[in-house]
Amino acid sequence: MRFELTVLGSNSALPAYGRFPTAQVLAVRERCYLIDCGEGAQMRMSEFGIRQGRIGQVFISHLHGDHIFGLIGWLASLALCSREEPLDIFAPAGLEEIIRVQLKYTGGLPFPLAFHTIGPGRHALIFEDSAVSVYSLPLAHRIPASGFLFRERERPRNIRPECIETFHIPYQAIPEIKAGADYRMEDGRVIPNAELTLAPPPPRAYAYCSDTAYYEALIPLVRGVDLLYHESTFCDELAAHAAETGHSTARQAATIALKAGVGRLILGHYSSRYKNLEPFLEEARSVFAATELGLDGARFEVAPEHRSGVGEAS
Ligand SMILES: [Zn+2]
Ligand SMILES: [Zn+2]
Repeated sequence: MRFELTVLGSNSALPAYGRFPTAQVLAVRERCYLIDCGEGAQMRMSEFGIRQGRIGQVFISHLHGDHIFGLIGWLASLALCSREEPLDIFAPAGLEEIIRVQLKYTGGLPFPLAFHTIGPGRHALIFEDSAVSVYSLPLAHRIPASGFLFRERERPRNIRPECIETFHIPYQAIPEIKAGADYRMEDGRVIPNAELTLAPPPPRAYAYCSDTAYYEALIPLVRGVDLLYHESTFCDELAAHAAETGHSTARQAATIALKAGVGRLILGHYSSRYKNLEPFLEEARSVFAATELGLDGARFEVAPEHRSGVGEAS
């Protein structure tokens, strides 16, 4: 079942070299979640074939413009497309005021908008549906900022196809068996669930960490995730500047990935001073081999088979 990340924008504050400010869409089964919404995010959604009607929740990390300036335009477009379904927005305090003022003067929305405030510095369950549980992650930035951890909900057990024929199981009994029930045959014999089904694949997880300075408190919180996005605004020669501005280098992102034993690392939130991003990749891979550049339009499947096996638990 689908668990796939699409990068809509991969740059930091200033768009440059065809890279837009930060935004991503995570598709899990039939649902989509928008993560940050930098300027131009809706153009990228159209360009990359995102089914916007499937987005029911938006997760905003913090209120710097490169993470929110695309929101009002996207909401206005949803209104023009006659959206009726409600939309949830999870964000630090202040975003509701920003959006409501803009809507007050530019026109309302034909669908309900619900804001949910994320407390600063917290690791907490903030949202749950049938596909995922979403947790906030504390980050170390210049203003209150929160990352997000998406954990897939456990999938139903898989029924062994040969059992359907062997035990003459009617289709209407299958959902209950997949949920864990035994099957009682017409002659009264009970077939235990363990004989009829296979355990589902282990739940997958994606962690989004932007914007943040190098912050080791994240390590236990993202330990073992299949896919980690960690900002890397600069390369190592600007480590001091990264620390001053609440950002990370590619080496620091890779160090978090290594220490947390994640499956794969994606870099992003590049400074506009870099045209060529190869040094980011080289620097990060020297620490954590399973690293990829997140670039606008890149898609990453969140899957255990991509786990590299590298990493140390510390
Ligand atoms: Zn930013
Ligand atoms: Zn920021």
